[in-house]
Amino acid sequence: AHITAITGSNGKTTTTSLTGAVLKQAGLDVEVGGNIGRSFANILLDRDPEYAVLELSSFQLDGMLDFRPRIAMLLNITPDHLDRYEYSLDLYAASKMSIAANQTEADHFIYCAEDPITSEKVAAALSEKNLHAQLHPFGFDSGLVPNQAAWLAEDQLHIDIKTTPSSTQPFSMSIYELALQGKHNLYNSMAAGIAGRILDITHDDIRNAMTDFRALEHRLQSLGEVQKIEFINDSKATNVNSTWYALESIQKPLIWIVGGVDKGNDYTELVEMVSTKVKAIVCLGLDNRKLHEAFARHVDLMVNCRSMPEAVRMAYHLGDAGDAVLLSPACASFDLFESYEDRGNRFKQAFLSL
Ligand code: ADP
Repeated sequence: AHITAITGSNGKTTTTSLTGAVLKQAGLDVEVGGNIGRSFANILLDRDPEYAVLELSSFQLDGMLDFRPRIAMLLNITPDHLDRYEYSLDLYAASKMSIAANQTEADHFIYCAEDPITSEKVAAALSEKNLHAQLHPFGFDSGLVPNQAAWLAEDQLHIDIKTTPSSTQPFSMSIYELALQGKHNLYNSMAAGIAGRILDITHDDIRNAMTDFRALEHRLQSLGEVQKIEFINDSKATNVNSTWYALESIQKPLIWIVGGVDKGNDYTELVEMVSTKVKAIVCLGLDNRKLHEAFARHVDLMVNCRSMPEAVRMAYHLGDAGDAVLLSPACASFDLFESYEDRGNRFKQAFLSL
């Protein structure tokens, strides 16, 4: 198969699904899997598709020897799973960068030019001559070389890939037409769109896939409203960076449900956002001390809860019409739940029983 492989600390599942949707919209024979859905090996037991779009975790990249994706994407590198990498960000980043290790000049490497660690590692790999693929940066800043790249200008997303036969005009679409909203999803859409243009998928097919895409469960998923208080399930936010984007993308005053198993979190980068956007914090974990230390001085109210129904009732009680209750835990789920899905499903059940 022609393989598009996608990695990053956050956004893998969303971007893999969206890229799969772009290829499907174009009518290509594609299977989507890897770290989501079926494993690649399991797919190949059934059939050998023409195209495969695969989500790869760093765990999977670590086992890679001569795997060579034709298109590789590196969405971002932020601290996560460091316990597996001797608490070294460099080792973790090296694992992520290895997605491009076997690529040649015929292949494509798509990466976020505005992610500091990613761009630093790309520059280092280039100077060491360890990166051979054609480079396709994406970012909001139109100062990026507007060639082989994706960027934003005046609320339009632009993609200009010149390697394909039909690339006379750059692709452009209004960011308000995108099904996936929020800054982080703009990045994800840029990455998926670049892959689409590399494969010479038409502008219409890319636009339609991006407009019709349905948000995935547990990722900034709006469940609905009770008494005009909106409930948003972002249970998949298991690290600080993904929660930062959740807080950033919501404009309503927030009651924030946070906590769980802390993987060595540094909450300082959330403090400013929390002091401007969050009315109250509902801590949902067995040990909430770090959360209190980080945020007690920055919100009017913090409470501790030990179960999801209790947390949801408390958040509802604290909210007013026009507010949103956001479950975006920034932590793993294993103290009180089986998985992030279990945590998100219980949030939904508790919401439905209000
Ligand atoms: P992954 O598969 O890498 O865990 P997901 O697509 O499942 O990523 O999203 C995980 C969490 O990260 C969600 O809370 C989501 O809103 C957030 N997120 C998605 N894309 C990004 C991104 N590009 N940067 C930061 N956070 C993101």
